[in-house]
Order: sequence, then structure tokens, then C-alpha cells
Amino acid sequence: MKLPGLNTQILLGAIFGVAAGVYFHSLGTAHPFVQTGLYASGLVGTLFIDLLKMILIPLVFCSITVGIANLRQHRQMHRVWVATLVFFMFTMAIAITLGMAASLYFKPGAGVEIAMFSDAMRNFSAAQISPSEFATQFLHGLFVNPFKALSEGNVLAVVIFALFLGIALVMGGERYRNILVLLQEAQEITMRIVGWVMVLAPFGIMALLIKLVATQDTAMIGTLAKFMGVVTGITLLHGVVILPLLLYLITGTTPLAFWRGAREALITAFATSSSNATLPITMRCTTRNLKVRPEIAGFVVPLGATVNMDGTALYEAAAALFIANLVGVELSFAQQLIVFFTAMIAAMGAPGIPSAGMVTMVMVLQSVGLPAEAIAILLPIDRLLDTLRTTVNVQGDMVGSLVVQKLAAAPEA
Ligand code: ASP
Repeated sequence: MKLPGLNTQILLGAIFGVAAGVYFHSLGTAHPFVQTGLYASGLVGTLFIDLLKMILIPLVFCSITVGIANLRQHRQMHRVWVATLVFFMFTMAIAITLGMAASLYFKPGAGVEIAMFSDAMRNFSAAQISPSEFATQFLHGLFVNPFKALSEGNVLAVVIFALFLGIALVMGGERYRNILVLLQEAQEITMRIVGWVMVLAPFGIMALLIKLVATQDTAMIGTLAKFMGVVTGITLLHGVVILPLLLYLITGTTPLAFWRGAREALITAFATSSSNATLPITMRCTTRNLKVRPEIAGFVVPLGATVNMDGTALYEAAAALFIANLVGVELSFAQQLIVFFTAMIAAMGAPGIPSAGMVTMVMVLQSVGLPAEAIAILLPIDRLLDTLRTTVNVQGDMVGSLVVQKLAAAPEA
């Protein structure tokens, strides 16, 4: 019998995972069968993520270095760099604007009693951090001893060091040819290993989704339904309409063609809630399926995984307005502008790991004097909302690499 293709297997794994998760949830986590099932899915899911993380850092390091070195040979470095940053900022700005506009219009949180959450807030203490401290920490974290960054899995610092190395390789030209060839071969090898990990993706994704759905705390969902509805609706609008429209207008790629090429990465992002863990698969989809040249994808995708987060930016802004409504504070226009900018910085500073956005959101709340402890209210629903925002974060990186490829190839004005 012939097995269905990997894409179909992944989709089936995801559907089966959600269905089994719902069934487990209905039985209750105390049921012995469910406990065994949760143990097994916890193990398989963790191993899948471990495998992705194992290959992540070597892949990022080699892809960026080789990518930069090859770009420079084509004299495109400057354009790629500028197009990437402009695209990242532009799409995050659209996402935040949508999130804020929808929150101002639908006013989730207005009329809900904050006293309901007083217990949760009392038992939660948020680390205080101001935007300036946050910026200092972020900048300070950019330049790190490469061996430390590599061993700690610090993606952003590895990206930065690889940029330096890539530029140095180009400046040195023929002199460092052997190192470049070595890194090129190392990158091919890491992609080969990613291919092996992909074979396990259907099982990994199924296991992660079973665990996620089965262990959801549904009590809070009712109270926060309106907020969840607004965030989910706007995130979907951004991912299903805005990004595909931009992609189509700039590159002519249809939404269907994009979905076909990107789905493995999108489903993995949904199941893992981690842009970093998904990165090896994002790279594979971008270069193999969407046919972005490796030197462009090698630069745009890893950088995007840590700094380009449309879903997170949207969420941070919407959540700040939600909390303002909850505590009954009317934010002035100036304060709304502050939320806009701090949400962007907070999203850029959030690492691509589950619930990272929650941590950096403290800064957004504090910038306009909202109580950071109110984050405790959002924690029970965060893992659920994280699935979709991570998917849109990863989608933004793939759309970005296609757009940058197109813009960088355009003839000089
Ligand atoms: N989980 C998100 C990501 O990896 C970050 C966040 O928490 O918003 O992209």
C-alpha cells in the first residue's frame, strides 16, 4: 500500500491530534487511559521539538553566513537588507493597527469585573522593566561570545555573529574560500538532517496537539471569550487576507500556491507555538517549495524568526487595550501611540519560543501605567492563542522572503 504524501500525513496528524485531544479532555485528565495517552504524547512531542532544536543552531549559523557571502557576490546585500527591515516593520505596523482598531471598536473587557481575577493577580508578580531598560537589554544581548551563543541556543546572537562572519568572508574573498566551501557543505548536511526530522513531523505534531487540547483549562475561556474572539479574528484577518494580498500584489504568488508550499511550516508553528523550533522546517519550505534562493531565505527567515512577529505585535497591542478596559482606564491618543510603538519593540524583542510574548508584554503595560500583574488574567488562555499568533509570525517570515527576493531582483531605478 502506498502511504499518502508528507503534507497529507501532517494534515491528518494535526486533525487527529485535535480530535483525540478533545476526546481526552472529555474523559478528564484523571482517567488512567488519558494519563497513559498524555504521557506518550508528551514524550513524542518533546522528542520532536528536541530534534528540531538540535539542528536549529547549526542550520541558522551556516545559512546566514553562506547567505551573506553569496549575496555580496551578487551585489545585492544592501537591497536585501533594506527591503527586509522595511517589510518587517511595515507588516508589524499593519498588524498592530488592526489589533488596536478592533479592540477600540469591540471594546473587549469593558464591563467585566476585574475583582473576578483578584486571586490570580495577587499570586503573580511581574518583573518590572521599563522600555529604556528593555531596549538596553535587547541591544546588550545582540553581541555575545559566539561560542556561548551557539551553546545556549541564543538565535538572535548567533544571527548577528553569522552576519559579521559572512561579511568578513566576502571581504577576504579567495583567501577564505575553503571556509566558505566548508560552511556551504555543512549547510547542505544540516538540511539533509532536517529532511529526516520531517519524516517524524506527523507524529510530533499529532502528539503536541493532543497534549495541548487535552490539558486546556476551559473555565476561563467563557469569561474571556470576547477578547479571544477579537484577537483570533484579527490574527486570521492578517494571516488570511492582509499578508496574502501583499504577497500577491508584490510577487504575483497566489494564496493557494503559497499555502501549498508553506503548509508544513505553518502547521508545525501551530503545534509547537515556537518560531525557533519551526525554523528548520520554515527554511526547508521556503527554499524547496516556495523556491526562494537560499542566500535570501538564509538571511530573511532566521532573522525574521526572532524579530518579525506580526501575530505577537498584534496580540501585545490588543491585550494592552483589553487590560485598560478591564481596569476601567481610558487611554489618551498619546498613550495609544505609546502602546503602538512599545508593542512593536516588545514583539521584536520576544524570542521565538512559546508564550514569549507574555513576558515582553509587561513592558507595554508599564509604559502606559497599566498594572503588570494583570497579565495573570491572560496566562490561562495564552497557550491557546499562541498557536495562531506563532503561525502568523512564521507566515510573515516566509511571505517576507518571497517579497524580498522579488524586490531585490527588480532592476535599478
Ligand atoms: N510563540 C511566539 C513565537 O514563537 C512568540 C510569542 O509568544 O508571541 O513566535
